[in-house]
Order: sequence, then C-alpha cells, then structure tokens
Amino acid sequence: MAQNTRYDILFEPVAIGPVTAKNRFYQVPHCSGTGHLRPQAHAAMRAMKAEGGWGVVCNEETEIHPSSDLSPYVENRLWDERDIPALRLMTDAVHEHGSLAGIELVHNGNHTYNLFSRAPALAVNDMSVSFGWPKQARAMDKSDIKELRRWHKQAALRSKEAGFDIVYVYAGHGMTLAQQFLLPEYNNRTDEYGGSLENRTRLIRELLEDTKEAVGDSCGVAFRFAVDELKGADGMQAEEEGRAVVELLAELPDLWDVNVSDWSNDSSTSRFNLEEGYQTQYTEFVKTVTSKPVVAVGRFTSPDMMVSLVKRKAVDFIGAARPSIADPFLPKKIEEDRIEEIRECIGCNICVSCDGMSIPIRCTQNPTMGEEWRRGWHPEFIRPKQSEQSALVVGSGPAGLECSMQLARRGYHVTLAEAADTLGGRVSAESNLKGLSAWSRVRDYRQQDLQQRGNVDIFTGSELSAEQVVELGIQNVFLATGAVWRRDGVGRSSRKPLPGVESAKVFTMEDIVSGVQMPSGPIVIYDDEQGYLGGVLADHLSSAGHEVIIVTPGSVVSAWTAYTLEQERIQTLLLKQGVKIIANHSISSVSDDNVTVSCVFTGKKMEIPCAGLLLVTERTRRTELYQSLIALKESGNKEAQPFNFELIGDALAPGLIADAVYSGHLAAQNFEEDPAEIERALFQRELPSLSIER
Ligand code: ADP
Ligand code: SF4
Repeated sequence: MAQNTRYDILFEPVAIGPVTAKNRFYQVPHCSGTGHLRPQAHAAMRAMKAEGGWGVVCNEETEIHPSSDLSPYVENRLWDERDIPALRLMTDAVHEHGSLAGIELVHNGNHTYNLFSRAPALAVNDMSVSFGWPKQARAMDKSDIKELRRWHKQAALRSKEAGFDIVYVYAGHGMTLAQQFLLPEYNNRTDEYGGSLENRTRLIRELLEDTKEAVGDSCGVAFRFAVDELKGADGMQAEEEGRAVVELLAELPDLWDVNVSDWSNDSSTSRFNLEEGYQTQYTEFVKTVTSKPVVAVGRFTSPDMMVSLVKRKAVDFIGAARPSIADPFLPKKIEEDRIEEIRECIGCNICVSCDGMSIPIRCTQNPTMGEEWRRGWHPEFIRPKQSEQSALVVGSGPAGLECSMQLARRGYHVTLAEAADTLGGRVSAESNLKGLSAWSRVRDYRQQDLQQRGNVDIFTGSELSAEQVVELGIQNVFLATGAVWRRDGVGRSSRKPLPGVESAKVFTMEDIVSGVQMPSGPIVIYDDEQGYLGGVLADHLSSAGHEVIIVTPGSVVSAWTAYTLEQERIQTLLLKQGVKIIANHSISSVSDDNVTVSCVFTGKKMEIPCAGLLLVTERTRRTELYQSLIALKESGNKEAQPFNFELIGDALAPGLIADAVYSGHLAAQNFEEDPAEIERALFQRELPSLSIER
C-alpha cells in the first residue's frame, strides 16, 4: 500500500484472467529500437521498469512469422523457438521484481514489406503495402487465414514457454492485419471475413479464441484495440463501430488495452495535445461494456488524476508508455509519496523517433533510458563520489543542469554559475515558443532537485570570465556554455555566408524569445536545418499575426519531424494558418526588402518579398570561455594550474535537448572514472553470434 493513503487504490492487485498484477501500473507495449537485435539491452530496459514498480511490463510488437518481417525496423521477433531464449532474458528479469511480463504478438499484414525475409506480403485484400517500398500485398485466401491462425497460436505457445504472463492479440495503430480485417476502408471481402461487422471481427475473435485455447489456462489474454481512428465518419469511431466491437467481444479477452489510432494519434506530442488524459474521452466507454479489466493511456503523470480515473471507473489500470520511459520509477515514487520527484514526460517523441531510425531508444528527460545494459546506468542511482573534489558548472541549460544534478547526487560540492537571471538556457528559451510549454519540465525537474541539495550553490546573473573561473579556485570545470543560432545563413546548403546578409534585417530564435519587435511585412523563415524549430517559429509568428513565408530545401516543412510523428500535422497547421511554404528551395542571396531563392533541382531563381529574415540554419558553439581558459593555462600562469576543464552539451556539439542532457549526464558519470572504463563503455555492444547452426 502507498505511504499516502490517498494513492492506496493505485496499489491494489488486479486479476487478468489466471494471473494477477500486483498494482494498477501497466507499461503498455512500446517499441524501443532494441528488440530482436539487442536482446540484452531490451531486457535490461524492461527490467528497470519492473524495478521501478510497474505491475505489468510489456515488450513491443513481436513478429510471429517471416511474412510479417518489419525490417529495417527493429522490433521483437518470435518466428520460431530459436527466438525464445532472447525473450526469456526479459521475462526472467521482469519476474525478479515481482511484475508480470506481457508480449504483443503481431502480424502486420500490408504494413510490412518483408525486406529481410523477402516473403510476399499478405493482406485482407490485394493492396499496396502501406508505405516505404513499391510493392503490393496479396489477398489472403482461406488457407492463408488458417495458416495465420496456426502461426499466431504457435507464437502464443512459445510466448508461454518464454515465460510471458500476458499474451496479446493486437488490432491497433493502423499497423496490424487484425485491424485491417476489421476496417471497411481496407476490407472489401465478400466471404465470411468481409461485409458485416460481425464478419469483419471474425478473425479477431478466432485469434482471441485460439490464444485462449493455447495459453489461457496460465496466461492472461489481452486485446489491444484502437476504438477510434480520429477520422470522424471516415473511420472507426468510438461511439459507433468502436463500441459495437467491444460489445461483440466484451467478455472474450481477459483484458482490454484500448487507445486511439493511428500511432501519431496515440503517441500525440504535447505540441498538439498538451493535456494529460487526452484519450480518455474516446476510451472510457469501454468499461461500461465489459466486466474485464481495462487499461488506457494518455501521458499520465499525475497521481491524483490516476486515482480519479480509477475511482470513476474509466480504467482499471493506468497505462503508460512514455511516462514509463521518462520515469521508470514513477510507481515507486507515488508509492513512497515522493510525487515531486517524478520526472514527467515532456511529450517530445524523441523516444518515438528512435523506432523510425532503427536505433536504441533514448529520452530527453531520462538520459539513462536505453543505456541500462550498455553503460549500466540507472535512472535513480549513480555511483558515489571518489574523493572530496568539487566542481564548477558554467551554464545552466539542459547540459549544465543535468551535469550539476548528477555530480551533486554523487556527493560532490557543485557550484553552478549562469549568466542569465534565470536557469534553463535553451530550454527556458524554447519553451516560450508556441506549443513547447511542456518542455520547461526539463528545467523544472532539475532546478527543483538542485535547490533542495545542501551541496549545491547556484549563482544566476553571473557571466564568468576565465579570470573569474580561475579565481574561484575550483579544480574541475564543466563548460556548458551552449550555442547560438548563426546570423549569416551558413548551414547545410551553403558553407559561405549568404550574399547581402550583413546589411539585411536578420533575426534568430534568440531574438524572438527575447521579444524583439519584428518589422511589419512578410517575415521569411529560412529553415535549412529542417528539424523542429523552423516550423515552431512559423507557427509562433503566424499565430501572433505576422505574415510568414517559410523557405526550406526539404521537400516538406520540418522534414525531420516525420520521426516524431508530427510532420503532417505541422504542415497542415501552417497551411491552415496561411503560412506560405516554399519547399525544395534554398536562399541564394538577400537584400533589404527581398530574398532570392533557388530551386534545389534546377537552380531556377525567384525573388520573394521579405521585411525580416529569420535564420534557422546552424548554430555557433559558445567556446570563448573555453578558449580563454586554454590560453590562460598555456600562458603558464601558476594560479591557473592545476585544474581541469571540459566542454559539454551544445558547446561541445550542438544537437537536440536530449543530446545536451545526455552529454551532461555522461560527463557527471565519467568524472573521476578510470579512462579505460570510459573507453570500454563506449565500445560496448551486442555482437551477432557466429554460430553456424541453421
Ligand atoms: P546546453 O544545451 O548545452 O545546456 P544552453 O545554450 O541551453 O546549452 O545553455 C547555455 C547556458 O550557458 C546559457 O543559459 C548561457 O546564459 C550560459 N552561459 C554561457 N556563457 C556563460 C558564462 N561565461 N558564464 C555563465 N553562464 C554562461
Ligand atoms: Fe517523453 Fe520525450 Fe522522453 Fe519520449 S523522449 S518519454 S516523449 S520526454
């Protein structure tokens, strides 16, 4: 039970068929980019959630057959019994902490293109694969459906053998065969699997029955179902067919895991859905239809909201993917009434982006995520100090804050100096932009932690020179001095300043957040970086009433945000707000009142009016202090000896906020570490087995 009785209800055990979860905290399946290629990393990451108190810890979508081969994306795999040992690593590790382990079995139908297996793709009807490769899937005939059921059943039996307690049937995210059979948009079969809702639900019913028959005696059988596609009358709606499906199958699964579809709606970023519980309006009817337990998600991090959801019978389990990534110890912190220590997800989807890039998961808020096995990092514990040394951290952006916090946790005395009057650096700046307010949690969590520590001195309004750093006499200095956006247009498209830029009215993100008066007339944003910022600034300025033209060499705005599942939303939003998008163009020169842009393919030039040019091209590292310290050290100045200093964060290599946090964390972890160990950790990886067994 919880230390604060208010939260007791969250720690009640709940039965899922033949198994019982020790509490109501349920990590729903989520991808991690570790999967079948990095099983040790996968197991260690899931085990951390179990250690942190999640009553149920699921894996990620798990391919049941080579005709559902998600390559190049790295998910889990259970093609045959040879995949069992890798999955057992996870179940053993999760069970050690008394949690249940769940497996999400899937056949992805036309959402895979089988690039490794080179098997023909299968679908409910003849249709193109849904993305990524010019290829078609063929309609499954009755014998294919029989085979599919056999594969699923075998996978369920192997799941049990691998030690899983909960086995899924999965119809969600617009990604699975079971969902494609269900949706009339895909299914135009004329046999008993097409037509009426009952027919379109037939495959799901069969898969659920098969799974129950195979493993239902000892495993809970869960059904993950997207009740609404958020397409209005053009798709499944919670109050129409969504409800009818739940009514048809109400008591069949042991657990309903419900959400909205597609993935971009389920994993919506805070930029588009700031509110916690944004899915509840769609999912809460489910409990009124079934007596089986229900789990639902919605970026839940507030225990009071969790309690109220359970009390008003909207859910039985608090489902979480991202909140469990940002804070694997969220349940423990609630149990021990350490609410203010919860590291809340900021809804940025950097974790999600890793799946699309087939790389191990990472998180802006939790730099240890994905590093549990490789580096042996723990989100709550860090090895204590080695000596009585102290540290000075200059700059309080995400890198400086994280570095200070971790050094302080290790027990060192930390002095944090910040030139500005407030802490947070770029996080404070960017969270002032439209849609990014939740990002301030990166600062708030760390600031609150630091302010409570007796071994930390914080000085704001303190821009330090090299001489002042030396005067302070602190032996170890971490320079987290950040980076500033360039004002000359140098970037990916041009390694030279833009002709005419020196006499033009040029602005950067820093000007916008400091409230500089923008000229009246069209503002041209040049987004040569193609990350998130150009699109955010376009939204920010156009919402404030400015006429905005965004020029980008990319073929769409904010091209990289496809990985955070935001690109289409951003482009739609900007177009609706009247922002003019000039894609496939770079800027070739600038004058007082216009810019010349050229087509990246033909070089054809065009002039566009411009009252002010806002550049998002590249950043310059702020290394003046670092250079001055080097000069002082090299001058042989006795007072400047001996002391160590290093650059961290954006001053070392500009990147995402997640990169800066990671850099600060790494520096704190590596402080006073054996250089050989630092080197070893960098090279740590899971090597393919050279076994010749076929
Ligand atoms: P990062 O992302 O690497 O953490 P930021 O750009 O967010 O970097 O933050 C850098 C911070 O460093 C800014 O808040 C800036 O005011 C501060 N800073 C830069 N130079 C100095 C200095 N010489 N003394 C104190 N603070 C500094
Ligand atoms: Fe949340 Fe961002 Fe971390 Fe993902 S990367 S869990 S969205 S803070």
